[in-house]
Amino acid sequence: KPMEGRITDIGPRDYNDFLPPVIAKNKGKWAYHEILEPGVLVHVAESGDKVFTVRVGAARLMSVTHIREICEIADKHCGGHLRFTTRNNVEFMVDDESKLAGLKADLASRKFAGGSNKFPIGGTGAGISNIVHTQGWVHCHTPATDASGPVKAIMDTVFDDFQNMRMPAPVRIALACCLNMCGAVHCSDIGVVGIHRKPPMIDHEWTDQLCEIPLAVASCPTAAVRPTKVEIGDKKVNSIAIKNERCMYCGNCYTMCPALPISDGEGDGLLIMVGGKVSNRISQPMFSKVVVAYIPNEMPRWPSLTEKIKHIIEVYAANARKYERLGEWADRIGWEKFFELTGLEFTHHLIDDFRDPAYYTWRQSTQFKF
Ligand code: SF4
Ligand code: SF4
Repeated sequence: KPMEGRITDIGPRDYNDFLPPVIAKNKGKWAYHEILEPGVLVHVAESGDKVFTVRVGAARLMSVTHIREICEIADKHCGGHLRFTTRNNVEFMVDDESKLAGLKADLASRKFAGGSNKFPIGGTGAGISNIVHTQGWVHCHTPATDASGPVKAIMDTVFDDFQNMRMPAPVRIALACCLNMCGAVHCSDIGVVGIHRKPPMIDHEWTDQLCEIPLAVASCPTAAVRPTKVEIGDKKVNSIAIKNERCMYCGNCYTMCPALPISDGEGDGLLIMVGGKVSNRISQPMFSKVVVAYIPNEMPRWPSLTEKIKHIIEVYAANARKYERLGEWADRIGWEKFFELTGLEFTHHLIDDFRDPAYYTWRQSTQFKF
């Protein structure tokens, strides 16, 4: 709790201050919950109190006007309360079933100029929820793709499954715009990762002025960066040399040194991973595996990427058992069978068995290249 009488400026206020009254009252005393229809849940407390939740997909980038509209809906129907889920959905909660129909009708009535829903209801249970993604092109050094673009294209392709629950189990999709993977890719059923395939370029004119050269050297996990001197005109200046054959294109040195840009229209692209999930009450977490090693950035609609993801989802939906997550299905039938059924090409880039000594020097070495 914040110190008495003080509203802290060193972090958010205690989250208990933000709970809707019915949730604060019944905290830790919930009996069960149900999905009433796609996007609508009811949580029932031991006291008999109920909370009805309407989940809507949130936009990739939000304007202040849009956020104000979300707050206006919360003020009108939910006593000023709302919450964002870990998968970027917005949840509006009411404490009485009589308020539910009005809230749903209000959400459905709000449209973009083109006629599509501003607040589509869905994203629950055995369907496809909103996509978790990073936003590197807005704020970061190392993105290999524009996260918003492919995420919008993928979500448009699978949108019907946001609003129904025909999958065997939940399908969670995530995208991270570089290998640092800020975006839950390793623990999602389908993960998309932006990758570089070329070493950084060296801007010798600026390395000495923009970079702490020892820091750039220390930042490289494969010891590919070393200090050097180069001639520019009639001067010798301190700069950096990169041993290209040791580079694994991670972009760490660029984070430390802006004179080492790594983004490249030809080298950059995406890979697809499959089979991750977080743990739950009855099963352990699973890491995803790379199943497509490279797809080029195809702005603005990423057709190869969306076609492959849609295909993986359809093959999974047609073959998995009820309640079986994508990775559990692939594990049960065997990954060889997964590649056979999906028709994805298996290449040496996909070998990922750290337990097999035959691959130790391959997959973990700097010679492993995309
Ligand atoms: Fe930056 Fe990489 Fe994270 Fe994207 S995934 S935000 S590029 S560190
Ligand atoms: Fe080293 Fe990564 Fe920079 Fe390559 S991109 S030189 S591996 S820090």
